[in-house]
Amino acid sequence: MPFRHCPSCGGTEIRLEFGKAFRCGACGFLYFHNVATAAGAVIESDGRLLFIVRAMEPAAGLLALPGGFVDPGERAEDAVVRECREEIGWAPKEFEFLASFPNRYEYRSILYNTCDFFFLVRADGLSVKDLELDPEETAGVRFVRPDEVVMEDLAFESTRMAIGAYLEYKARIRVNSPERYSS
Ligand SMILES: [Zn+2]
Repeated sequence: MPFRHCPSCGGTEIRLEFGKAFRCGACGFLYFHNVATAAGAVIESDGRLLFIVRAMEPAAGLLALPGGFVDPGERAEDAVVRECREEIGWAPKEFEFLASFPNRYEYRSILYNTCDFFFLVRADGLSVKDLELDPEETAGVRFVRPDEVVMEDLAFESTRMAIGAYLEYKARIRVNSPERYSS
């Protein structure tokens, strides 16, 4: 439990309820540490997927998708555009919803349970020269063929799930339109 004292009365009778709420037994103060929303981009360019190399903890050095927390009052669709602009200096104009997955994100010893929304971006022709990386957040980018993604190199469980959803989505397209892939 990250809190030792009640933020309202300073008492020490803080207890966890419902696995996500902090209640003070002295004054009745109640705080819900609710699930936070995040948005990420699965960017496809010429048959490869764009990953960023995380510069920051948690999971510095591992691969992730461009993305981040949704701000108060913001739509997930706008958050994914903003986060791409901030992290890689390039923002998608068109995208579609792919899937959402729960994630656990520990930052400075506080655990945030999140629900990560993933959007699929088609950006054929996009290359590293079109990008401008924020060195504080992004140590580099990798364009990786989907079948060559090493799941252990991915920073977050939700990223692994998103890549799985992407592969299923591609397989579904192939089944639905075999003529596009025959010959
Ligand atoms: Zn209290």
